Amino acid sequence: MPVGTQGTVKAVAQDVLESLGAEIILGNTYHLYLRPGHEAIRRMCGLHRFMSWPRALLTDSGGFQVFSLNALRKVSDDGVRFRSHLDGSSHFFTPEHSMEVQIALGADIAMAFDECTEYPAERGRAEESLRLTMAWARRSLDHFRAHRDEVVWGNDRNGEAFEGRTQSLFGIVQGGMFGDLRRQCAERLVEMDFDGYAIGGLSVGEPRELTLEMIAEVLPLLPKDKPRYVMGVGYPDEIEQYARMGVDMMDCVLPTRAARHGLLFTSEGRLNIKNKQYAEDQAPPDPACNCMVCRRYSRAYLRHLMQAGEALSGTLNTIHNLAYYLSIMKRVRASLQSQDG
Ligand SMILES: [Zn+2]
Repeated sequence: MPVGTQGTVKAVAQDVLESLGAEIILGNTYHLYLRPGHEAIRRMCGLHRFMSWPRALLTDSGGFQVFSLNALRKVSDDGVRFRSHLDGSSHFFTPEHSMEVQIALGADIAMAFDECTEYPAERGRAEESLRLTMAWARRSLDHFRAHRDEVVWGNDRNGEAFEGRTQSLFGIVQGGMFGDLRRQCAERLVEMDFDGYAIGGLSVGEPRELTLEMIAEVLPLLPKDKPRYVMGVGYPDEIEQYARMGVDMMDCVLPTRAARHGLLFTSEGRLNIKNKQYAEDQAPPDPACNCMVCRRYSRAYLRHLMQAGEALSGTLNTIHNLAYYLSIMKRVRASLQSQDG
């Protein structure tokens, strides 16, 4: 899932995302709540309509940004008080409020409000964080079930109604890097019966073997007939590995963020387009890639755009990286389907 933090996958227009085959993208609750505001988006019939994206959307709970962008946040059992990174104004997020904001945004998938345990964290700290996450999961679910029919589905830009769509809520497994805490969390969440399950709090600075170990601990406990989502991963080889383990969904800012810094993921490995060696390189960014960028432009041209600080640079680099990531998942899907058959 490409990440569209502010209601946009940075530098790439929605029709291009559609042509790349992106079926679902992410929006960030924290950012959209602060600007333009969830009530404004509700009045405009929801995020689908506002950003003109008729395909699936997922919003996060806002928790991760509250924790990562706010050094001065204050956590209590009730919720989190934090200051806006935009204007310093004070805000209070509770599980109920996160649900209200996500119902107003009206994505297909909303996420339970959780506390992302930092890394490294001592066992005591991870236990306390897990206690909060589980209490907040219960409150998120109760509020969501009571209000989910308030989603305004509106219609798309052509006036066609988003008929038959309902919002789903996923629970998030936390527990730091402690396998038993992770398992305990997964079991409790499955008892609560969410529509899908995410494994959060990974890719927060821990070594990759540990990420893998935590996924392997949790995955077998999550129902196979519901989506299983690992949040915030990863490099191209990681997403392939996790998908083959049974992970159904992943999101990561890496392909888009790295692209804007000139880092391209290719079938030949990582390519830093800023390097001088590409100054007169007429080859496409990735000779094995059939995306609209690789079909049309050379490494030399992409390097020139980057050196000149041209806006098209971020756009073209991002389109290629997304095409590359989506092609990995397409290949894995095809190979899993042929195994099944
Ligand atoms: Zn390409």
